[in-house]
Amino acid sequence: MLISLVVPSYNEEEALPLFYKEAARVAAEMEKSHGAAFEFIFVDDGSKDKTLAVARRLHAEDARVRYVSFSRNFGKEAAIYAGLQAARGDYVATLDADLQDPPALLPQMLDALLTGDYDCAATRRTTRKGEPPVRSWFARKFYQIINKLGDTEIVDGARDYRLMSRKMVNAVLAMAEYNRFSKGIFSWVGFETKWFDYENIERVAGQTKWNFWSLFKYSIEGIVGFSTAPLVLAAGAGVLFCVAAFIGIVFVAVRALLFGDPTSGWPSMVCIMLLCSGVQLFCLGIVGEYLAKTYLEVKHRPVYIAKETEADRDQG
Ligand code: UDP
Ligand code: MG
Repeated sequence: MLISLVVPSYNEEEALPLFYKEAARVAAEMEKSHGAAFEFIFVDDGSKDKTLAVARRLHAEDARVRYVSFSRNFGKEAAIYAGLQAARGDYVATLDADLQDPPALLPQMLDALLTGDYDCAATRRTTRKGEPPVRSWFARKFYQIINKLGDTEIVDGARDYRLMSRKMVNAVLAMAEYNRFSKGIFSWVGFETKWFDYENIERVAGQTKWNFWSLFKYSIEGIVGFSTAPLVLAAGAGVLFCVAAFIGIVFVAVRALLFGDPTSGWPSMVCIMLLCSGVQLFCLGIVGEYLAKTYLEVKHRPVYIAKETEADRDQG
C-alpha cells in the first residue's frame, strides 16, 4: 500500500524541512502500524525563494521525496492538480506545507478509508482562532451564499486537507477544467466523505499567501465556477424592472389624461435612469464574468507548466 502526500508549496523554504521531518516521523509510525509505504510530492509553485533547492536537497537525501517545479506561480489549485497527477499512491493526501494540516491525523484518516465505507477522509476546522474577525464574518457569509446559490455543497470551514482513495483521485483528475476551485471539485465528484474536526493551528514558519482581496477573488471564482444562479438573478432583476417600468408608464399616462402634463419631476427621472443603468451594468458584469471564465476555458491552456521534476534531476 502506497500513500502519496501532495504538498503545494509557494515560498516555503523555512516550512518545508519542518514539514518533511514531521511527515517522515508519521510515515515511520504508519509503516509499523499499517504497513504503508510513502512518497512525498512537493509542488514548487514558482517560488521566489529557495523552495526548489530545498526540495532538490530533500530528494537527494530521501528517494521517497519527489517534486514538480512550475515555470511560474500558477496558484495552489494548479499545484494540487499537478501533485495529484504525479502521485502514484493507492491513497493520496493533499496538505499544506506549513503544518496547519497536521500529518499526525493521517493514521485516523487512513483507518476510516480502510473500513471500506468511505473514499475520502476530509478535515474541517471548528474554530477560526487567530484570524481577523472581519475575515471570519466574510468567510461565513461566503459559505452561506454559495450554498444557497449552488447545487454543490461547500462545507464551512472545510480545508483542502484530505486523504482520498485512488478512485476519487482519478475522478478529480478527470475534471481537467482550467478554473479550478478545489472545494467545489472535491464535493462535486461525490463519494462518501468522513469529516474530521480539528482546531485551527498557526503556521510554523513563513507568511500566509492570502490577503482579503485575494480571498474575495477566490470566493467569486468559487461562486462562478459552481453556480449559474447569478445569471438567473440578473434575469430576475431585469424582469422586476420591466414590471416596475410598465406600472410607471400606466401611472404616468393616466395621470396626464386626468390632470394634464405639467413638466416636472426631472430630478426623480435622473435618479431612476441612474438606478436602471446601474442595474443593467451590474447584470452585464455578471454575464461578463461567466463569459470570461468560458473564454479562459475554451482556450484549453494547460493548468500548469512544469520546468523541472525529480526525474530530470535523476537523469542528470
Ligand atoms: N500555496 C501555493 N501557491 C500559491 C499560494 C499558496 O502552492 O499561490 C500553498 C502554500 O505554500 C501552502 C498552502 O498553499 O502550502 C496554503 O497557503 P497558506 O498557508 O498561505 O494559506 P492559509 O493556510 O493561510 O489559508
Ligand atoms: Mg497555511
